[in-house]
Amino acid sequence: MHKPNAAAQCSIPCNLCGSTDAEQVRSKDRHGEYLRSVICRRCGLVWTDPRPTPEQVREFYGHEYRLDYKQTYQPKAKQTYRSGKVAVDRFRRLQPVLEPGFRVLDVGAGSGEVVYVLRAMGYDASGFEPNEGYARYAAEVLGLPVRQRFWQDAAISPESQDLVTMFHTVEHLESPFDVMRHARQWLRPQGLLLVEVPNVEAVCQQPHTQFHRGHLYHFNLATMEAMHQRAGYSVVSSSTSPDGGNITVISRKTDAPHSGAGEVPGNYERVASILRRHTALRHLFSRYPFIRPFSKLAARLEEQRSVQSHRPAKEVLDALISDALQ
Ligand SMILES: [Zn+2]
Repeated sequence: MHKPNAAAQCSIPCNLCGSTDAEQVRSKDRHGEYLRSVICRRCGLVWTDPRPTPEQVREFYGHEYRLDYKQTYQPKAKQTYRSGKVAVDRFRRLQPVLEPGFRVLDVGAGSGEVVYVLRAMGYDASGFEPNEGYARYAAEVLGLPVRQRFWQDAAISPESQDLVTMFHTVEHLESPFDVMRHARQWLRPQGLLLVEVPNVEAVCQQPHTQFHRGHLYHFNLATMEAMHQRAGYSVVSSSTSPDGGNITVISRKTDAPHSGAGEVPGNYERVASILRRHTALRHLFSRYPFIRPFSKLAARLEEQRSVQSHRPAKEVLDALISDALQ
């Protein structure tokens, strides 16, 4: 495979500020394969450059996400339980901004658990998902209004939504800016946008697992907030998950189509130095590798108590939701 000169500038302009002044921060993915990631010197956004070919991305998803899986996705009760727990946590992050009767659109809905929880809580939620297997499972097994679509052909009525959510979606797309800006058309005036992505500053995982073919972009809170502003939103709240692994930004659609140039002073220095310090050796001596196995064991015991192997998916989700309400 042709490897471009590491010192060369990037071939894809920064999705946040438009600059092409970037430097290499990684050259390998989690499997030790060549994958070059660069950081923008103007704003600190990190992205994959050159981008993997559609075939390489497809191969990655075929491996880890089963994108090519054309049959209805059939998770085991254990998997449904895990996805349901994640969905209940996501619902809790949405709760502070939800109002009765809200229409919510989940972009990249996966197997539909977030839409399921929102509907169970009385909200008018729907979604779309490009993966055919997941979308079909959400529609046919869970009975949800989740359609198989890419965002470009989503055909959502203009200004029909109170809230648009994108959980772990934009980092997989060629242009997070485009989808976030486009979502303004789906939102009513003053409508809300939630975007959650992995945190590029995270040190809770092995350094090499952060970079893989599925993730085309890596954000920290500063670049994610700036992306909302530039796409035409004003930030309402920002948070980092307790383990530092994920960041969530909620914003409100503004009247102006966009603001700011995407420049984030000092952020390049901050992110570059975190990535340089986050080496495999440091990870070994941090508290995270010791905490994670214990919390995983506790989670597994809880899971075993709650899941019988052939329990229908809806029953597993309903039990999780009624637990969450107590
Ligand atoms: Zn930039």
